[in-house]
Amino acid sequence: MTSIWLDRKESFSPDPFQAGSAYDTVVAGAGLTGLVTALLLARSGQQVLVLEARYPGAVTTGNTTAKVSLLQGTVLSGLARQYSAKQVQAYVDANREGQAWLLRYLQEQGVPFQPRDAYTYATTGDGLERLREELTAGTTAGLEIKYTGDAGLPFPVQGALKLAGQAQINPMDALDALMADLRSRGGTIVGGVRLRDVSGNGPLTVRTDQGNVTANHVVLATGIPVLDRGLYFTKLKPLRSYAAALELPAELVPPPGMYLSAEEPTHSLRDYEMDGRRYLLVGGHGHHVGRTASEKAHLDGLLDWAGTYFPGATATHTWSAQDYQATNLMPFFGTLPRGRGRILFGTGYNKWGMTNAVAAALGISADILGGQLPWADTIHHRVTSPTGALTAVKLNAQVAVKLASGWGKVAAGERKAPRHAAAATPADGEGKVYRDGARPVAVSTVDGTTCGLSAVCTHLGGIVTWNDNELTWDCPLHGSRFSSDGHLLEGPATKDLPRADKD
Ligand SMILES: Cc1cc2nc3c(=O)[nH]c(=O)nc-3n(C[C@H](O)[C@H](O)[C@H](O)COP(=O)(O)OP(=O)(O)OC[C@H]3O[C@@H](n4cnc5c(N)ncnc54)[C@H](O)[C@@H]3O)c2cc1C
Repeated sequence: MTSIWLDRKESFSPDPFQAGSAYDTVVAGAGLTGLVTALLLARSGQQVLVLEARYPGAVTTGNTTAKVSLLQGTVLSGLARQYSAKQVQAYVDANREGQAWLLRYLQEQGVPFQPRDAYTYATTGDGLERLREELTAGTTAGLEIKYTGDAGLPFPVQGALKLAGQAQINPMDALDALMADLRSRGGTIVGGVRLRDVSGNGPLTVRTDQGNVTANHVVLATGIPVLDRGLYFTKLKPLRSYAAALELPAELVPPPGMYLSAEEPTHSLRDYEMDGRRYLLVGGHGHHVGRTASEKAHLDGLLDWAGTYFPGATATHTWSAQDYQATNLMPFFGTLPRGRGRILFGTGYNKWGMTNAVAAALGISADILGGQLPWADTIHHRVTSPTGALTAVKLNAQVAVKLASGWGKVAAGERKAPRHAAAATPADGEGKVYRDGARPVAVSTVDGTTCGLSAVCTHLGGIVTWNDNELTWDCPLHGSRFSSDGHLLEGPATKDLPRADKD
C-alpha cells in the first residue's frame, strides 16, 4: 500500500545520531510541520536536530493528496458555527500565509507545482445547503469564492463553489527541497530514532530510543503530540481515509480542477502527471481509526465509485492515511501546557495540513524566536465553543465505551482462545484478538508468518483491532497503529506492542 509519492527511486540518507549532543532546538517529526519549522529556525542561525522515528514523509505528508487550497470543503462554515468572525478570519489568514509561504518557497527552489481552481461540489439538496453556508462563511472572510453550476465533472452535480488560483503539489518534492535546504544551513536529520520523553526545566533532556540529547526547545511535529501533557489526545479525532492513483487512458481527460464533495462519504479528486503518464488521484471514504468492521470495504467503496465515473482508468497505487481533527475544528499549535514555554507542537489540521502545517510552523518558530503573528494570537486565545466542548465530551465518552467494550469482550470470554493451536491461527491476512488467561492477545498471520502480540495499546490501554486493508493493529481510542509484528507506525504511543510471550 504505497502512495504514488512514496513510490520513488530517491531514498533517504539519515545523518548519524549523536547521543549526548546539545542543540538549540530538537524537532521530532520530519513531515511538513517539522521540516518547515526546522528550516525557519536554522535560517535564523539555530543548531537544529530533526528526529524522525521512521523516514521523512512516512506517515501523513507522504500519503496526502496535497491540494494547497484555501477552499477546504465545508470547513469554514463549520468554524463559523462555533467561532466569531474574527476567529474564522484568523484561520483564513493563517492558511493564506501558509499557502503563500509554501508556494513562494517551492518557486524559489525550482520545485514544480500546478495552479488549479478548487471546487467544493454538492450532489444532493443537503449538500447544496452546505455550499450556501460555506459561500457565506468564505466570502465574509474575504475569499473570492463563486457559485457555479458547472464544475467540469463527468457526473451530475447540484452546484459547486469555485475558488480560482489554488495549487497542487507533489509533497515529497517539497520535503526533499526542505531537507536539502535545512542541511545546507547546518541542520541534522536523523531517521529511525524515536523521541520517547522530554524532561528538565533548564535545557531539556530529550530521551529517545537511541540515547539522550539536550535542547533549549523541543517541537513535537509528530502528527498527534506524543507527550500526554495538555491531554490533546482527548481533543483530537484520528480520521483515516483512502486514496488511489488511477492511470488515465489517452482518451480520458481529467477534470480541470481540484475537487471535494460537500457530502459524506467524501470524494476528493485531482490530477497528476509523472514521466509522461497521466493520473487521476481520488480520495475519501474515511472513518475514525479502528472503528469500522472492514477498512478494506472503505477502499473498495472508493474504487467502485471511481470505476463508475472514470471507466477505463486503472488503479496503479492505493493507500490510506490518517490526520487529526480537533473537536472544535481549529488546529492547535504553540506551546504545550506544563512545558515552560520550551515544548511546542502543531496538530489538528483536519486533512488541510498543506496550508495549516506551514501556518503552524510559522507560529511555532515565531514563538521560539520572539516574533508576533496577529492570526496566531487570535487562534491561541480562542475559547472552546459549547459545540466544541460537547463534541469533546462525546468523543471521550465514545473512547470510554471502546475501552470498556474492548476489555469487556475479553473478560466475558467472548474471545477465549480455541483449545487447539491450529484453530487459533488466523488465515493469511487476518488477525484476531483472543483471551489468554486474563491477557488479551492479538494474533495475526501475514505472508505465512503468525505473530502473537499483547493486544493492549501501549498508549492508554485500548484493545487494538485488526485493519484488514493495511494488515496492521489499530487502536480505536486515540489512533495508534502497529505493524503485524508489533512495530509502532503512528499515533500518540511511543512504544511497540510487546510479543505475547514477553508481556
Ligand atoms: C488521505 C489524506 C489526504 C490529505 N489530503 C490533503 C490535501 O489535499 N490538502 C491538505 O492541505 N492536506 C491534506 N491532508 C492533510 C495533510 O497531509 C496533513 O495534515 C499533513 O501532512 C500533516 O503533516 P505533519 O508534518 O503534521 O505530520 P506527518 O507528515 O504525519 O509527520 C509526522 C512525523 O512525525 C514522526 N513521528 C511520530 N512520532 C515520533 C516520535 N515519537 N519521534 C520522532 N518522530 C516521530 C512520524 O514518523 C512522521 O514522519 C490529507 C491527509 C490525509 C490523511
